[in-house]
Amino acid sequence: MSLDDLYRRVIMDHYQSPRNRGKLEGEAITVNLNNPTCGDVVSLQMFIEDDKIKDAKFVGEGCSISLASASMMTEAIKGLTVDQSLELVELFSKMMQGENIDIEKFPIEDIEALTGVTKFPARIKCATLAWNALRKGVEEQGERRG
Ligand code: ZN
Repeated sequence: MSLDDLYRRVIMDHYQSPRNRGKLEGEAITVNLNNPTCGDVVSLQMFIEDDKIKDAKFVGEGCSISLASASMMTEAIKGLTVDQSLELVELFSKMMQGENIDIEKFPIEDIEALTGVTKFPARIKCATLAWNALRKGVEEQGERRG
């Protein structure tokens, strides 16, 4: 099996069986973002307590890349501190720009499957959508606290 096939298989697995899909009960941070170029929409919800991401869930519609990325992202950030999650957003953004990064810094290895997206520049916005929602959510939380 080629690396591309392997990546495709990992992405389809997250697309067909998304992790953390659903809604959180209670006062969760909610961020809605869309990617008009592809028609992807994602609604991310998070509980942040004591500077840690206690829980994260999402609902969304769109292409396999956008939803697989949201599934992987929510899986990766649970239990991290806000700063650690922002470091991952930065790392993911570098990965999408084709930079050589240390993939082992991601808490889940499935994220490596999205490196294939860099070959299709039009799809990069699909892959980064959920990560942008994460950044927006933690920034809003920070502002709310002052
Ligand atoms: Zn898309």
